[in-house]
Amino acid sequence: MCGIAGYAGSENAITTLVLLLLELQHRGQESAGIAIATADGRIHSIVGKGLVIEALNGSELSKLFEVGKVFGGIGHVRYATSGGYMDSQAQPLVVSSNGYTIAVAFNGTIANYIQLAKEFNLRGVGGDATVLTHTLLRLAKELGNDIVEALKVLPSYVIGGYSIVILTSEPRLIAARDPYGFRPLAIAKHGNGLYIASETAALDVLGATDWREVLPGEIVSYDGHSLEITRTSISTPISPCIFEYVYFSRPDSIFNGVSVYVTRVRMGEELARVAPVSGDVVIPVPDSGRAAAIGFSRVSGIPLEEGIVVNKYVGRGFIAPPTIRDTISKLKYGFVRGSINMKKVVLVDDSIVRGTTMKSLVNKLRAFGAREVHVRVASSPFKYPCFMGIDIASRAELLAWRAASIIDIAKSIEADSVGYNTIEGLLKAVGLPLVCHACFSGLYPFKGLTVDELEKMFIR
Ligand code: SF4
Repeated sequence: MCGIAGYAGSENAITTLVLLLLELQHRGQESAGIAIATADGRIHSIVGKGLVIEALNGSELSKLFEVGKVFGGIGHVRYATSGGYMDSQAQPLVVSSNGYTIAVAFNGTIANYIQLAKEFNLRGVGGDATVLTHTLLRLAKELGNDIVEALKVLPSYVIGGYSIVILTSEPRLIAARDPYGFRPLAIAKHGNGLYIASETAALDVLGATDWREVLPGEIVSYDGHSLEITRTSISTPISPCIFEYVYFSRPDSIFNGVSVYVTRVRMGEELARVAPVSGDVVIPVPDSGRAAAIGFSRVSGIPLEEGIVVNKYVGRGFIAPPTIRDTISKLKYGFVRGSINMKKVVLVDDSIVRGTTMKSLVNKLRAFGAREVHVRVASSPFKYPCFMGIDIASRAELLAWRAASIIDIAKSIEADSVGYNTIEGLLKAVGLPLVCHACFSGLYPFKGLTVDELEKMFIR
């Protein structure tokens, strides 16, 4: 999962990109970067480690303001899915060949990037973002320096998921989603410009409320005057990521025309029906468990109280590098004794992936006086890795895969009981006919490819 943004128009492009990235910060905290194109087609970029506020600051950013008349640009906040943490994979990536330059920022994962690197003879190019960028440049060169034509054929080479923004030296600003539509992307032709962001909430905050979502397989190209909309030549059944509703996206975003917040509340309502439990209080795991806890409380009649306070300044544990994930989960939460002491607590969260955070929360609730702790999870057991945008390298990392039963899961996180939603319950909450739920079901949307084959193909 990463956040991507783009802008071209009469507003200050650098400031607009930084603001969009701040609104997408929850999608990645390891690095941030922007690339801008001047009106005469020169591309300049800066990338840095950490949050937007740390990475896009100081003298490097000041220099960008002095490059001359700016056409527009693209931006990226990174959460690593391949290529490791804190490395050269910070985006946007800028590559050139014979005077044709592209800058690329993408959200997703290219599972077959090693195979692609061989096919295109990309020696010494590592990481899926770099391989994708070079592949696009090669295809564009073969197709008359036309990046839109390259995007049309890209899905026939790629296994994985991508939403992408590209800046070219023509200059042009381009946005595209893979034909499955795994990851979100929205545009707004607003005022005198084109705004692009991973999530609709970022566009709303900047006042570009007349957005529309880029459709799966759609390619949008903007030259500063007119908008050209075309499609990839490959068609597949669509398969948007259900985990965007469960955890990734902001609750104030819309994905595939469906409100993330409303879906989360419905997931909680379904959860109360399929995994009921008696209790004195429903306590959400903030922030992404909150909407589901509201739904659970409504249907169960158990009062909802805030019992856990999140320290927003230490980052999202799930998307933090493994080396600091444990420390983050210890520092991140405070506890409201009055809501917990002597109570039978129903603790509602969006998901359990590795189980690290949940075990620590259960034990903390007991330390603050909870008589019993019953964990209820708004999604289903997370048993399979994702090859379309989450950092899960193998099944061995997943608590639900390792555990023999739900009782085993409860034992390992030291809860009195654990209850999950069903996949049917999740589908009912989302209300879309086709979504990807492979991390719960093991059913990947790539024809004929099993989890074993995908795991072998994708080396992080
Ligand atoms: S496997 Fe899970 S996380 Fe990955 S795209 Fe599918 S639903 Fe989303």
